[in-house]
Amino acid sequence: MALSDLTERLYNLRRDRTSGYEKPYKPALLLAIFDLIEKGSFSDNRVFLTDELIQRYRDYIKVVGGPRDTARIQYPFWFLCSDGIWQIFDKAGNLVYNPGDIIGSSPSIKRLRAMMSHASLEHELFEYLQRPAEQALLRSAVISRYFPGQRNLLQALHQQYLQTEPIAAEDPGKYEKDPARSQAFARTIKEVYDYRCAACGIRVRFRELALVDACHLIPFSESFNDHPTNGMALCKNHHWALDRNLISPSESDGSLIWEPSPLLDDRIEGQRPLVQLAGKRILLPRERKFYPAVKSIQWRVTRLARL
Ligand SMILES: [Zn+2]
Repeated sequence: MALSDLTERLYNLRRDRTSGYEKPYKPALLLAIFDLIEKGSFSDNRVFLTDELIQRYRDYIKVVGGPRDTARIQYPFWFLCSDGIWQIFDKAGNLVYNPGDIIGSSPSIKRLRAMMSHASLEHELFEYLQRPAEQALLRSAVISRYFPGQRNLLQALHQQYLQTEPIAAEDPGKYEKDPARSQAFARTIKEVYDYRCAACGIRVRFRELALVDACHLIPFSESFNDHPTNGMALCKNHHWALDRNLISPSESDGSLIWEPSPLLDDRIEGQRPLVQLAGKRILLPRERKFYPAVKSIQWRVTRLARL
């Protein structure tokens, strides 16, 4: 499996939303597992439910969990099976959970420990995690997608764990230019916007090609934020106009609308279509959780070209 496909899989973890927001459990467990693998535990791709893993997972939940989130590791440990991230084996080497099984509620930790021997990560994922560059990339992808606001804290936690000297701010270019990361972001954005420009609504698809671009609202080099709420699908023309601060998403009376730069003149041909976007609703994703974040919108509005 290509690194981009794996990143994509990590981007699309199914998460419990019954409390009105997505639970942080699965991505937090992945970060804990990445750490232990980096330190040399589980070197044969057998991930045991050790006390060290449990403690590590709790450390991450302290940073990314909400007040009502529990740190019970058995939930994500069990349910990661259904995301194609890993498989759980019993002591005889049989799968505890078979693909296609209806995956019921997770067993208690005691029961889970009794019924399983270990979990094994998707073979290629484990291979990539053996290489420092890919490991750093996968970690960054998980953080960018699920915990962009806690990036610094999570990095500090990671460094502390490795007991190495804290490194200075990471080189933004390293991840910015990475094709796997940007492809995963682009695919997610295009999909949630249904391949439609959020400004004019144009939608052209031909086989695997789509006309729209996936744009960051706050640039990745500044925000390190690949969460879909920091992105938008736009056609080439509107992407160009957004990048030059000629148009911006904006908010008015609770509606997300377009705001053109006051420097544009509707009497001038070519500028007119941009001016006419004023007050028009942004063509948003179907699911509210993917709507552009207020913070990202504000970042754009304040940069709109003005006198
Ligand atoms: Zn457009």
